[in-house]
Amino acid sequence: MTAVRFTGAAIISRRVSIGTIDNPLRVAVVGSGPAGFYSAGHLLADKELAIEVDMFDRLPTPFGLVRAGVAPDHPKIKSVTRVYEKTAAKEQFRFFGNVKIGEHLSHADLERHYHAIVYAYGCETDRQLGIDGEELPGSYAATEFVAWYNGHPDYRDIEFDLSCERVAIVGNGNVAMDLARMLVLPRAELEGTDTADHAIEALASSNVKHVVVLGRRGQAQAAFTNPELRELGELTDADVIVEPFELDRHSAQSIDGEGEITPRRNVEILQEFSGRTPEGKPKQVELRFLVSPVAIRGDEKVEQIELVHNRLEHGGEGQIRAQATDEHETLDVGLVFRAVGYRGIPIDGVPFDEWKGTIPNEEGRVLDPHAQHAVPGLYVAGWVKRGPSGVIGTNKRDAQETVEHLLEDVREGRLGDPERPARAAIEELVRERQPDVVDYAGWEAIDASEKAAGEPQGRPRVKLTRIAEMVEAARAARV
Ligand code: NAP
Repeated sequence: MTAVRFTGAAIISRRVSIGTIDNPLRVAVVGSGPAGFYSAGHLLADKELAIEVDMFDRLPTPFGLVRAGVAPDHPKIKSVTRVYEKTAAKEQFRFFGNVKIGEHLSHADLERHYHAIVYAYGCETDRQLGIDGEELPGSYAATEFVAWYNGHPDYRDIEFDLSCERVAIVGNGNVAMDLARMLVLPRAELEGTDTADHAIEALASSNVKHVVVLGRRGQAQAAFTNPELRELGELTDADVIVEPFELDRHSAQSIDGEGEITPRRNVEILQEFSGRTPEGKPKQVELRFLVSPVAIRGDEKVEQIELVHNRLEHGGEGQIRAQATDEHETLDVGLVFRAVGYRGIPIDGVPFDEWKGTIPNEEGRVLDPHAQHAVPGLYVAGWVKRGPSGVIGTNKRDAQETVEHLLEDVREGRLGDPERPARAAIEELVRERQPDVVDYAGWEAIDASEKAAGEPQGRPRVKLTRIAEMVEAARAARV
């Protein structure tokens, strides 16, 4: 139990009269990715209280980054949705897709209808590098490219010019690994996946031959995980290149994350890569370390990226920092992707930490930023709670912590009744504000139609990539 404080007005001494059959605990979960579904799952697994969960998503399709972020050549990771489907099948669960909080419904609307709200809408936008030329055509956020190849409707019409031979990816995390692979996968491998059709065509006919991944720190500080790194060494069409001098430069600095298993294995894998003789595959993925971009140059579009070489130094609290040297280098590239992390975005009326890009909270209880008190009935889970870190499973523990605190607050009588608790009231309001709302049966119809389109091609699905098509497919199910 935490020592979090609550605002006086919030302490409503009415122990456990919420969560009864007559007054079920009504929770709105905003966001239908892993954090949202694990939150709903933990809530609906509670054996003592009567609980109803309504989940909202701005898209007609659920599952967040499992659908729009996980790389299409990683289908096993996507099978986690089976767990979420079990939650969605429960009678006390409803899905309101194609409903945006902040547009169709406000935070205040949710407060009027629910005892508690769990914000679990992730980190929708990207971090910037803050360097000259970042806005040039050809310089993109990884988030845009990832969403585009995954068929996210908002990114469907971006046209990436893949006519250049050399591409730079800034960042040393798993998103950088995903991008590097996707840029060099052969047509045959793309065609077996649920990559959006528009992206398969563009990627398969791309001219990209050399992808260079730029890490600002050393090999042992890279954020990618072992299997993702290892995969780069197993690509059909691309040799992985790690120049031995890159590794020598780093080991000379002897700051190597000793003792931690993931960085140690990463270093071993990189050493193995650096000892390889390239097989002469048509493409290459090159990994560079201790370099930071300082400018992106080009007349009308990206032509070059200027790098500064870094050395490592100890910062405060055990941190190992990259410190720029005087040595510069310029690479000719036609595209730059920054894969340096994601950021959350605020919702009107909900506290937000602009600096961190997250909702301020203590173990999932949203804090009033001025008073540092918990705001009763307001919770947060997933990336918008802790920042964009961890794998899908990390959200399970994260959501559990949030839900435990939510239920503790119910039991301790800290939550009040909303103005309009009836289950039908919110549905009525949603239908009035967004007639194109898609419920879970609507999603199941979209899902079935995508799978049916994929089946003759031996693909898991052919994604619908326009909202109107999705709404249409969902509606067809009702007829
Ligand atoms: P990430 O793991 O936090 O990596 C971000 C990378 O960007 C780090 O190498 C960081 O370097 C670098 N960076 C940050 N600011 C920079 C700057 N100004 N200049 C140069 N480099 C900079 O983030 P991510 O790759 O976006 O992934 C987000 C989360 O999703 C991670 O937890 C990841 O594991 C997960 N994910 C998992 C999978 C999978 O399981 N297959 C796939 C995709 C994503 P520093 O370390 O020096 O800050």
